[in-house]
Amino acid sequence: MRIVIIGGGAAGMSAASKAKRINADSEVIVYDSGGFVSYAECGIPYFLGGKIDDYGKLIHYPITEFTEKRGIIVRTNTSVSSINPEKKEIFFDNGTSESYDRLIICTGASPKVPQKFKDSGALAIRTLDSGIDIRKKLKPGMKVTIIGDGVLGMELASTLKEGGYGTRLISHHSDLFPRISREISRQFLEDFRNEIEVELESEILAIEKTNSNFTVKTSKGTHESGIVIFATGIVPNTSFLKGSSIETTSTGLIRTNELMQTNFPDIYAAGDCATSRNIVTGKESWNPLAQVSNKMGRVAGSNAAGERMIFPGSIGTTLVKIFDYEVGFAGLALDESIKASFNAKRTTVKARSRAAYYEGGSEIWVEIIYDVKSGKLLGSQIISKDGGAWRLNAVASAIQAGLTVEDLFYTDFGYTPPFGPVWDPIIIAASLSMK
Ligand SMILES: Cc1cc2nc3c(=O)[nH]c(=O)nc-3n(C[C@H](O)[C@H](O)[C@H](O)COP(=O)(O)OP(=O)(O)OC[C@H]3O[C@@H](n4cnc5c(N)ncnc54)[C@H](O)[C@@H]3O)c2cc1C
Repeated sequence: MRIVIIGGGAAGMSAASKAKRINADSEVIVYDSGGFVSYAECGIPYFLGGKIDDYGKLIHYPITEFTEKRGIIVRTNTSVSSINPEKKEIFFDNGTSESYDRLIICTGASPKVPQKFKDSGALAIRTLDSGIDIRKKLKPGMKVTIIGDGVLGMELASTLKEGGYGTRLISHHSDLFPRISREISRQFLEDFRNEIEVELESEILAIEKTNSNFTVKTSKGTHESGIVIFATGIVPNTSFLKGSSIETTSTGLIRTNELMQTNFPDIYAAGDCATSRNIVTGKESWNPLAQVSNKMGRVAGSNAAGERMIFPGSIGTTLVKIFDYEVGFAGLALDESIKASFNAKRTTVKARSRAAYYEGGSEIWVEIIYDVKSGKLLGSQIISKDGGAWRLNAVASAIQAGLTVEDLFYTDFGYTPPFGPVWDPIIIAASLSMK
């Protein structure tokens, strides 16, 4: 059996490895349009900020690990331009084609850069190649303009500032980092603004290249910048499916079932280019995240190779380090919960991250969102300089398991003064929500 995988990122290489492990006799071939496979996109902001000196450290495994040790065929710099699902054939940019028995599409996503700025010389990050290109352009002390205040924009602003670059962040939003609720983000955003020049409610009107610099004209002013980076979201890499009868959503995501199977039983899709299920709402959703992609890839690889696995979906648990803050959210925000017809409420707790008498620690803000009638946990957001990440992951497990605020209150978390107060902020938030 020939299993062909398009895309050698998180989902693609997980799919390939699992398929080959399950069915050693199968021929597993991965095609990737870039020069690398199996690398850590998530490490690129730290490579740009200089925390990681060598991009080679971001490569999880050299290609030989797959070709020589795992028996997988890997073809880099090979772009798939179309698919004929009826004839089970894929076509390459160079005019050649390949047949398959099972196909797994793992082509990821690309940065969403407004059409009018595509040729402006402004940059965007996605692949390792793009990260290497940006790092070459960064010069010590250079002024960097980041457009977008989502997770990537905030993370980049912080890593580049820490790397010694003058950093400006521009957003059209009226509030910075709107995914995080204002109730818990005030101090964190104040600290961020002390480090980064922030321009809100601003539209980019023009980006002009002048010698080696850029002039960015916005609705609020004119800024000089060494480089300009767009972090304004992503779109799935599925345009090559146009004209095929593989089912996609209105936003171009490949529609999959819990086996990661498309409307063609022999074609699977996984990672950022595909839909999955939101565990809280039970509805079709998109969570373009590294762990989610790896797991979707593994499930797709297993099913394609003949061993049934089910992907239950995800709750979009997201962690990001912004300066010294550990910031995270999981499940639904309050407005999303209300939109999904829950009778939702939130509880916000500000406390200390360790026992009051124990050295160190910091303030911690915990928000939990729950359904008033059932008590079911719907979402959480946590910010702290100490222990924010582990707490968010703990609450994420509870949300995913469908637990209630009462279940969370009685969850038997370990306690010792250096790691938390005896009434942990999570437990306090649960307790207040039970009233
Ligand atoms: C800078 C950055 C930081 C991130 N940080 C985090 C983080 O901290 N935590 C987190 O959970 N997630 C993070 N993510 C998201 C995470 O990296 C992605 O969700 C994950 O890599 C998606 O895996 P994937 O396999 O779907 O796509 P990718 O890993 O992007 O792989 C897709 C591959 O498909 C190839 N390809 C595309 N089109 C074609 C074609 N037509 N033919 C052949 N090959 C093709 C591409 O070259 C690429 O190698 C980050 C992403 C970026 C860009």
